[in-house]
Amino acid sequence: MLLIRCPYCETERPELEFRYGGEALLERPKDPALVSDDAWTAYLWTCKNPKGPHAERWRHVHGCGRFFNAARNTVSDLIVSTWRVDDSPPANFDGGGA
Ligand SMILES: [Zn+2]
Repeated sequence: MLLIRCPYCETERPELEFRYGGEALLERPKDPALVSDDAWTAYLWTCKNPKGPHAERWRHVHGCGRFFNAARNTVSDLIVSTWRVDDSPPANFDGGGA
């Protein structure tokens, strides 16, 4: 079973306590009314889906209930680090592929 470290509880817990919340580090357009339909559709539905490190949003649903970010390697399925949403990604994280 995969263990995930919640950066708020500061403990490793079984993955069954968590829920995947989509891609992380996305920047929402400041004024959605001013962006094109294509740009808005890309923001909502296009994800990077890289092979390797990927920034993801997770939620500790059966714990503190808070959202946090995680760097997961999509090849090995290992979560290599987690951090609070208001913190910067780890320095060794390459941004999740381009
Ligand atoms: Zn937690």
